[in-house]
Amino acid sequence: METKQFKAESKRLLEMMIHSIYTHKEIFLRELISNASDAMDKMYYKALTDETISFEKEHYKITIEPNKEARQLIIRDTGIGMTKEELEENLGTIAKSGSLAFKAENEAQDGHDIIGQFGVGFYSAFMVADVVTVVTKPFGGAVAYKWESRGVEGYTIEEVDKETVGTEITLHIKANEEEESYDEYLETYRLRSIIKKYSDFIRYPIEMKELER
Ligand code: ADP
Ligand code: MG
Repeated sequence: METKQFKAESKRLLEMMIHSIYTHKEIFLRELISNASDAMDKMYYKALTDETISFEKEHYKITIEPNKEARQLIIRDTGIGMTKEELEENLGTIAKSGSLAFKAENEAQDGHDIIGQFGVGFYSAFMVADVVTVVTKPFGGAVAYKWESRGVEGYTIEEVDKETVGTEITLHIKANEEEESYDEYLETYRLRSIIKKYSDFIRYPIEMKELER
């Protein structure tokens, strides 16, 4: 297993997300669902330009799986996945999204909802999660990798087994704090309403997986 540091600007954005007092933390789900959708679009475009690749519509979907006992929320897609290099490049550094988030902090007082209007991306997961785990297998690749981070300290990367191409993101939802509860992000009805509010236009089915009890 390799342990790596985040780039300086990623670290700042992460810190902001972890200690965020933003009132619409729920938008993390919109960000992760939009990334899942983008990853499946990439497969679609690949299929358009390469006749050896077929795009079976039924195969592409997003699965949302809350688990109260484990305090976990899993977001799964059957998109293009990431290579080890892409994992490091995409989740270890922050480009355009970062500057937006800094702007958001400054403009928050003016009542401008920059975070709400634009995306802050993947790192918004850290508004509700204290551990984020990404397991991904790239299209055309044989090896899957697990990326895991507990925040600003950095992240680890290791090879793992994953049969199918795509990405599975597991959020370990934060423990409740005196002034804020995070339990709602493990409630099916609440997740459904967040999806309805922000992700209604997504072109792929979003399935809620309910655990049997
Ligand atoms: P943006 O979506 O604006 O590029 P994000 O911070 O949301 O920024 O995501 C960063 C990058 O990480 C994406 O551009 C993409 O390359 C990669 N990524 C994130 N989630 C996934 C996913 N589920 N499948 C494949 N790649 C992903
Ligand atoms: Mg995104």
